[in-house]
Amino acid sequence: MKSDVLGFCFGVRRAVEMIENELKDNGPLCTLGAIVHNTHVVSSLSDEGGQLVHSLDEVPENGAVAITAHGAGEEIYKEIKRRNLRLIDTTCPIVRRAQETAATMVKDGFFVLLYGEKDHPEVKGILSWTRGKGEATMSSDVAVPSEARRIAVISQTTKKRELFAEFAQQITGQYASKLEEIRIIDTTCPETGRRYQAARELAHAVEALFVVGSHSSANTRKLAETCSETKIPTYHIDSAYEVKGKWLTGVSRAGVTAGASTPDYIINEVVSRLEGLT
Ligand code: SF4
Repeated sequence: MKSDVLGFCFGVRRAVEMIENELKDNGPLCTLGAIVHNTHVVSSLSDEGGQLVHSLDEVPENGAVAITAHGAGEEIYKEIKRRNLRLIDTTCPIVRRAQETAATMVKDGFFVLLYGEKDHPEVKGILSWTRGKGEATMSSDVAVPSEARRIAVISQTTKKRELFAEFAQQITGQYASKLEEIRIIDTTCPETGRRYQAARELAHAVEALFVVGSHSSANTRKLAETCSETKIPTYHIDSAYEVKGKWLTGVSRAGVTAGASTPDYIINEVVSRLEGLT
């Protein structure tokens, strides 16, 4: 059985399609970071002329560069313009909204607290739009600068909404009496929640769960964690080749879900392999 919501989210699907169309119409380009955290997709785009780079220094003069669905900081846009590079901006509209929220809040005099992982590219990008008036943290035990009178609490888009709500509540408890205003803006992505919910529902109907996606993909790892919490035996696999026959001993119904960065054909290969083994 397949989960009702699985594989590429709309932001990733949009980004991959934009890159594929660009490669077809205008030829080779560089992507600043992996367009998707999936080795199969990155390698197939690279075969078509989409070269993965980690710095604008690696982009040829007058070349084309794509910003990924995770978005980028203000300084990257400025540098692309300064170098006169052709920009293909695949920033997911939901990430863009989080960036705009951060920038607007700072313009309105707020200090921004961003619930998210400091080292994640999306978080670094959003934070850049606060122009130094923001901080990313996963812990509510965070010190707000003494001069800040108003704070805005926002989230990395892929964080669970319940965890963001808990974080925002803890911040409010800690600072309500010390500040003039605390504004909470939910910038989480509904896609993430729907995926977790669909995986939990699937767990009720099966005896084993297969979560498909690169081991390097944070969103797939989180999905696998959520599936494990259901106590149904859960296997995080990169592709059909990793499926072991012994996992299916005594299993009459297996469920398949996949991270937001997993392409359809990899999911279908896993489903075919499972069907062949059961
Ligand atoms: S998970 Fe949500 S925010 Fe992230 S790329 Fe997909 S649609 Fe956009």
